[in-house]
Amino acid sequence: MTEFYQGRAWIELDITALRHNVERLQALLNPDCALMPAVKANAYGHGAIPIAKELNALGIRAFCVASILEGVELRQNGILGEILILGYTHPQYAPLLAQYRLTQTILDHTYALALNACKQTIDVQIKIDTGMHRLGTSYQNLAELQQIFACRQLRVTGAYTHLYEDDLTLPTGRAAALAQGRAFYQTVDRLKALGYRIPKVHILASSGLLHCPGIGGDYGRVGIALYGQMPVKAQWKSAGVDLRPVLSLKARISLIRDIAKGDGAGYGHQFVARRDTKIAVATIGYGDGLPRRLSNGVGAALIRGQTAPIIGRICMDQTLLDVTDIPAVVPGDIAVFIGKSGSKEITACDVAEQAGTISNEILSCLSHRLERTPVQTTARQHAQLLAAGSSAL
Ligand SMILES: *Cc1c(COP(=O)(O)O)cnc(C)c1O
Repeated sequence: MTEFYQGRAWIELDITALRHNVERLQALLNPDCALMPAVKANAYGHGAIPIAKELNALGIRAFCVASILEGVELRQNGILGEILILGYTHPQYAPLLAQYRLTQTILDHTYALALNACKQTIDVQIKIDTGMHRLGTSYQNLAELQQIFACRQLRVTGAYTHLYEDDLTLPTGRAAALAQGRAFYQTVDRLKALGYRIPKVHILASSGLLHCPGIGGDYGRVGIALYGQMPVKAQWKSAGVDLRPVLSLKARISLIRDIAKGDGAGYGHQFVARRDTKIAVATIGYGDGLPRRLSNGVGAALIRGQTAPIIGRICMDQTLLDVTDIPAVVPGDIAVFIGKSGSKEITACDVAEQAGTISNEILSCLSHRLERTPVQTTARQHAQLLAAGSSAL
């Protein structure tokens, strides 16, 4: 990692960590249960195309996304395998679903009838509601489930449910998960007994995969754990698997300046220097997805292995850091907002805690403006990719 080409603010993807996480998570599952990574929201901010390409290269042949456009983007970039859209697609897009061979989730029987009326043969998976009460037909409503199977244009490739407990480190969470699993499989068995074909069934997201892998069925719809995090730090620590963060978030230091004790800095002068202060300007802001909640010392960056607190209000494109105690810092240095510097590390879970949210939100809100690149890429390769207009960046 000597050749840095990154100009302003960027994401580095540790592909070795991604491979490690894939292996560890796959090892938890039954041999006939495959990973179906969630690459929605730009692969939780990591970059859907570079992540999905790498996963394809590792032999993974199933993905889930939230929207049809996310699915189309994967196909346009040559991603292979089943792509399941977890959420709503307007029925007017039925031709696109067919053209790009995307699998649409059936939200309920009314939605199935609307999609069926489009006269396109479409692959679908049926969402069964076992308690989350978000999407899906109730597991108790066999009549409506049968109406879905009766739709001639819909080719059912699977059925799935979603766990409402997101912390399965707790016994109560696991008990609820197992109850949902029983309800789901009972319904699947009843439908099969009525003669309906359901090729694939699945239940688990990250927490379920880590703590109840046995009920997985055919796919583990893994998101946050694949990226080497869990929603909050306690869950990450108790995952029972060594999950390695894939993403680092970095920005350039553009300027260093000294202000005198008593001077203010930034919008509204919310920072007022209590001592003569050295300020570094980092070229990243909330427009890049750095949460504005980290303003005024709530968050920090790492520079040259030391902590530089955020001072004043985070701006859309820039952030001020207090580097008074890091005298060696010079313009062109790199500030690490998520990731390692020397012996120190800031994880997405740390940032989430400071911002009062979960790591999933921090990561998925990292904006498209950030460059995204696998860490092994050299400056020359990067220039070639840029010239080729690769969306992998
Ligand atoms: C986002 C999502 C997942 C992945 O969740 P993680 O907790 O990030 O693993 C799985 N299933 C559904 C239905 C989802 O919406």
